[in-house]
Amino acid sequence: MGRAVAEYPLGIESLMLWQDLKTRTGRDTGFRRSGIVYAAFPGARLADTDGLMTADDGRAEPSLAASALAEAARDAGAVNLNNCAVRGLETKAGRVSAVGTAQGVIRCDGAILAAGAWSRLFCANLGIDLPQVRVRSSVLRTAPAPGGPDMALGNGRFGIRPRADGGYTITRRGRVPVQLTCDLLLQSSRFARGLVRNRREIAVTVDGSRMQDLRTPRRWQTDRPGPFEQDRVLDPDPQRRTLARAWRDVVRVFPALSGVPVVESWGGIIDVAPDGVPVIDEAPGLPGLVIATGFSGHGFGLGPGAGQMAAEIATGAATLIDPAPFRIAPVRTTQAGRTTSWPVHVPANAVTPGAENFLYRATIPLNWTPVRSAV
Ligand SMILES: Cc1cc2nc3c(=O)[nH]c(=O)nc-3n(C[C@H](O)[C@H](O)[C@H](O)COP(=O)(O)OP(=O)(O)OC[C@H]3O[C@@H](n4cnc5c(N)ncnc54)[C@H](O)[C@@H]3O)c2cc1C
Repeated sequence: MGRAVAEYPLGIESLMLWQDLKTRTGRDTGFRRSGIVYAAFPGARLADTDGLMTADDGRAEPSLAASALAEAARDAGAVNLNNCAVRGLETKAGRVSAVGTAQGVIRCDGAILAAGAWSRLFCANLGIDLPQVRVRSSVLRTAPAPGGPDMALGNGRFGIRPRADGGYTITRRGRVPVQLTCDLLLQSSRFARGLVRNRREIAVTVDGSRMQDLRTPRRWQTDRPGPFEQDRVLDPDPQRRTLARAWRDVVRVFPALSGVPVVESWGGIIDVAPDGVPVIDEAPGLPGLVIATGFSGHGFGLGPGAGQMAAEIATGAATLIDPAPFRIAPVRTTQAGRTTSWPVHVPANAVTPGAENFLYRATIPLNWTPVRSAV
C-alpha cells in the first residue's frame, strides 16, 4: 500500500515468489505472511482512526534473505565474485559482449545492471542519462521486547516492523529529509513533480553529500580503478534526530516499548526514480544490457519479482507481468506515478484472490474492529 498503482502487479507476484523461496532455495529467508497495517493515529496527518490492513502481506529478514539467495544461486551454478567492482562494459557490433571488472574481463552475451544507487553513475560512463537520485535513509533496531505490534505497521510518522529476533526495526515516515545534491539540481525538472506532490513529507536539507557528489567523476577509463573501487560501500551516518523523533512517536503509540534499548541504528542510500517506480528494461541504444534499478525504497519486497522479470527480459522470455510501467522513458506515459491516496481504493486486479483485505477502524493500541472490506 502507499505505492504507485502501477507497482501492484509486481508486488503481488513478488509476494507469491517470497512465499515459495524457502522451498525453492532450501533456506530460511525469514518470510512470513504477517500482514501490514497502514494506520492513522492522533496527531498524524491522516484521519484519526482510519487504517488499512492487508492481512496477506508479508515481511522477511534482509540479513537472512540476502545470503539465502546468494547461496542458492551459487548452488545453481552462479559464481559470486565478492569485492570485485565492475568498471564498465565492452561491446561488439553495438551489443554487450563483455563485462570489465577489477579482476579481469568476463565475456558474455548480455548483462543485467542491478547496481542500486550506483546505477546512474555506472550508466553515465556508458553515455546513458538514467533518471535517479540518491536519498539518505536511516533505521534503528531495538532489543527484543514484548508489548509492541505483531505485524508491520506504518502511520504518518513512523514505520515499525517486528524482527525475527523479537526486536523491532523502526524508521521515520511523514517528514523525510532529502539532501539537496548537485545531481538532484541537475535533474530538477524530472523530480520537480514528485517533490511538489510529496512536499508535506519531504524536508530538503543540505549536507556533506553535495561535496561528495561534486568530487565523483562521471567518466572514467575502464582499464584502471574507477569510482566503484574508491567508494565501495554507501553507508552514511544515520540521521539521529530523525530517528529520535520516530522513536519518540513509537513509544507514544506503544508505551510498552518505553525503556527498551535501541541497540543499533544505521543509514543507507535509496535509489529514487522520479515517479517512485523502478526501471526494469533494456538500456536505450545498448542491446544486451538490462537495467533493473530505481526501487525507491521498495526494492527488498519487490526483489524476487523484479529479479525474475529482469532475467526474463535479458533472455527474451515472456515476462511475469506487463513490463510497460517499468520501461525507461524520459517521461513515463503510464499512470506509474499515481500513488494510492487515503482512503485507499485498490483496483480489483490488485487483490490476491482469497486475500483478506480490510478497511479497519482502529483504536489504540491496535484493538482493531474490522469493517468488512470496501476494497
Ligand atoms: C534504510 C533503508 C531501509 C529500507 N527499507 C526497505 C523496506 O522496508 N522494504 C523494502 O522493500 N525496501 C527497503 N529499502 C530499499 C531496499 O534496500 C532497496 O530497494 C534494495 O536493496 C535495492 O536492491 P538492488 O539490488 O536494486 O540494489 P542494492 O541492494 O543497492 O544492491 C546493489 C549492489 O550492487 C553493487 N554494485 C554497485 N555498483 C557496482 C559495481 N560497479 N561493481 C560491482 N558491484 C556493484 C553494490 O555493492 C550493491 O551490493 C530500504 C533501504 C534503506 C537504505
